[in-house]
Amino acid sequence: MGRVVFIGAGPGAADLITVRGAQRLAAAEVVLFDALTDPALRVYAPHARWLDVGKRGYGQAAAQSEIDALLVRLAQEHAVVVRLKGGDPSVFGRLEEELLALQAAGIACEVVPGVTAALAAAADTQRPLTRRGHGRSVSLATAMTREGSVHAGRHADTEVFYMAGRRLAPLGRRLCEQGWDAATPVSVVSRAGWPDQLHSEHRLDDLARAALLHAGRPAVVTVGAGAAAVAPTHKAGALETSQASI
Ligand code: SAH
Repeated sequence: MGRVVFIGAGPGAADLITVRGAQRLAAAEVVLFDALTDPALRVYAPHARWLDVGKRGYGQAAAQSEIDALLVRLAQEHAVVVRLKGGDPSVFGRLEEELLALQAAGIACEVVPGVTAALAAAADTQRPLTRRGHGRSVSLATAMTREGSVHAGRHADTEVFYMAGRRLAPLGRRLCEQGWDAATPVSVVSRAGWPDQLHSEHRLDDLARAALLHAGRPAVVTVGAGAAAVAPTHKAGALETSQASI
């Protein structure tokens, strides 16, 4: 019986994987990977069998239950199986389902963290998610419910939304309804961490404009304190807004 190592590949370019992630990858006999991971990562495990189970992969997308069953079967046949996931496995990575399936089969697991898309977007745009005095909390959220409706509120000074690319207009409306000011800064970054990263700035009430720009690309939407550019004027403005709302 082997073990399964979940590895966060980071958000894009292969060199954003951690050193530990690359070392574990080198020991893999089989690697199950997702559509959002960089093919250049193969250099770390050139002799392993690479299986694409990505939801948007070139082959047929595998259902979650099939991936769970495949992981269990492969771990019974190989010493080290790597489950490579885009970004960080613990953030919108379906890690719970896969850990449960492996636990039930008595298979040992390890999780190696990675750089999640929200952090890559913050780095690419040089917009810190926390700001002294007015950006004390960050929320990582998905706006999409299982039923396909948009669900969003006001939980933190900076809200980062994943998987919102197709629903930007309703997301902006919903956040305004939930008490965010229409002029709240929003930063949208698609393909963060890749050479073709794209960034646009908006107000909450004109978020719909971002939809065409980032169409078909994985994007994160940062709203509030952490969305503003670092500049003396922006900082002063943001402070005034936050003081007025306290
Ligand atoms: N585990 C991943 C998230 C997977 S869910 C992580 O930690 O980053 C897929 C969503 O992640 C996409 O819809 C998009 O919102 C976001 N995403 C993934 N890669 C991205 C990238 N390179 N740039 C911007 N957003 C990305």
